[in-house]
Amino acid sequence: MINFRYTRATDVGDAVRQIAAEPKAKFIAGGTNILDLMKYEVEQPTQLIDISHLPLRIIEEVPSGGLRIGALVPNSDLAYHPLIEARYPILSSAILAGASQQLRNMASTGGNLMQRTRCFYFYDTVTPCNKREPGSGCSAIEGINRINAILGTSEACIATHPSDMCVALAALEATVHVIGPSGERAIPFADFHRLPGGTPEIDTNLAPDEIIMAVELPPQGFASHYSYLKIRDRLSYAFALVSAAAALELDGGRIAEARLALGGVAHKPWRRVEAEAALRGEVPDRAAFAKAADILLRGSCGFAHNGFKIGLAHRVIERTLMQAAHGTPQIQAIKKIR
Ligand SMILES: Cc1cc2nc3c(=O)[nH]c(=O)nc-3n(C[C@H](O)[C@H](O)[C@H](O)COP(=O)(O)OP(=O)(O)OC[C@H]3O[C@@H](n4cnc5c(N)ncnc54)[C@H](O)[C@@H]3O)c2cc1C
Ligand code: SF4
Repeated sequence: MINFRYTRATDVGDAVRQIAAEPKAKFIAGGTNILDLMKYEVEQPTQLIDISHLPLRIIEEVPSGGLRIGALVPNSDLAYHPLIEARYPILSSAILAGASQQLRNMASTGGNLMQRTRCFYFYDTVTPCNKREPGSGCSAIEGINRINAILGTSEACIATHPSDMCVALAALEATVHVIGPSGERAIPFADFHRLPGGTPEIDTNLAPDEIIMAVELPPQGFASHYSYLKIRDRLSYAFALVSAAAALELDGGRIAEARLALGGVAHKPWRRVEAEAALRGEVPDRAAFAKAADILLRGSCGFAHNGFKIGLAHRVIERTLMQAAHGTPQIQAIKKIR
């Protein structure tokens, strides 16, 4: 591990001042990703700014009827919070599908959004990787790309974003509240993560001198008809090959509102409003779900080892929508085995 300076931020303003003053500094929250990246020398910050003591651990109701989740709320606290379980169970399901209990106890909400790809070559510092070292090339395109993206790829990078929580936040249309030297701003979740394009080294639209303060959930939680399905190589403690978050509002036997987002297939949670629009007004059956899957996966393209993800994603979308339509009481099931 390289040498670095460790400092603690005393408040949010101090955190912003410190990061703005040192372009090579990084925040540390739970440390479950940044420390690994530093040990592998993938990330080499000159300064670690500890934000873990800032007062950003609160989950509170907001006047709009939604919930505001502080950036430092641990993933476990969020998943088991009574208001999340009752009103946004799709978020609980997605969080509990990720990592392990110990990791979720440490991992923060902001850190989960900012976690970096699990592309093998990103961690292997002796191989070219445009995300780690811009301009060096992409080893995954011609290499072992079983876990890589099938949608939104570029000639520079085919990495995926590994988060489960973010897939549910995309489906719920959350908003990310951030602050930097020029003040606060709110970023719609769909615009927070980026596609790789020609600059895969930039994962998100958060400026380097900004900090995430909170994630806000809108009032609509789809608590009656939701499902999060994650397909992975092991039953637990593995990142998604393909995952899907599906949320429906049913009215008179037809779909009144639909949300659909995929994980494990792109550089960001993958959503297309056209796929959701195609579901509106339809009877919730396999034909409608297959059509939505076709739209969501339009333009998908596999590489040597990950072509299987296209068919898998189609089946996952159909099954997740079917489970959502049935109103699977997943949280109750999780509580029983806890
Ligand atoms: C073995 C293992 C398995 C895992 N499996 C899964 C899984 O299946 N699904 C899943 O979703 N995740 C998984 N994870 C990832 C885990 O969820 C993330 O590592 C975690 O959420 C990161 O949160 P953190 O607080 O520890 O972030 P840190 O490691 O502290 O920080 C990560 C990054 O976020 C930045 N950051 C943190 N907070 C802020 C903020 N408020 N504002 C701006 N930047 C910030 C840091 O500077 C750093 O760049 C796994 C991790 C491990 C180690
Ligand atoms: S896919 Fe992206 S992260 Fe992986 S080797 Fe290529 S450039 Fe690097």
